[in-house]
Amino acid sequence: MKKIIYPGTFDPIHYGHIDIAKRASKLFDEVHICISDNLEKNPLFTHDERVSMIEECLDDISNISVHSNPKNLVVNFARDCGAVAIIRGLRHVSDFEFEFQMAMMNYHLNPNIPTILMMPAEQYIHLNSSVVKEVAKLDGDVSTYVPDCVLDRLISKYKS
Ligand code: ADP
Repeated sequence: MKKIIYPGTFDPIHYGHIDIAKRASKLFDEVHICISDNLEKNPLFTHDERVSMIEECLDDISNISVHSNPKNLVVNFARDCGAVAIIRGLRHVSDFEFEFQMAMMNYHLNPNIPTILMMPAEQYIHLNSSVVKEVAKLDGDVSTYVPDCVLDRLISKYKS
């Protein structure tokens, strides 16, 4: 039984994240999406809101589960659930430096849990959650970037 952790802020989840999660679900027995905090990001959605959006977006894939991991190292979360690796998405060269540094730090924290970097399909290379929020906030159309359940929440968040 090979489990993998897919950590991130997912604020909110978009089709680039979904692409990586679906690919991982075909390669591993279980994918545990792990919502973690990033000190540099001030999230728009609460952990509970992010969990329920991701669950709705991926409810057709039985080997993906969603977990909130607010105050715990990703490597410790991975160790505690018996994961064999961490998977991260890699969009372009500019992601590489950050992902490489994080992978090395996680390796030093726990050398038993390697990081796998995976590229999404080409049409999702330009996507990130900040751009989605920026466009949605200014009333732009983000329906090609996020599923309907996320779109509805973005619209109501910015209306309020
Ligand atoms: P972001 O806020 O940039 O979307 P997250 O912290 O939510 O980032 O991302 C979690 C993981 O998903 C990271 O490994 C990130 O590189 C990856 N990811 C983000 N956007 C994409 C995308 N468009 N395609 C593939 N992977 C992505």
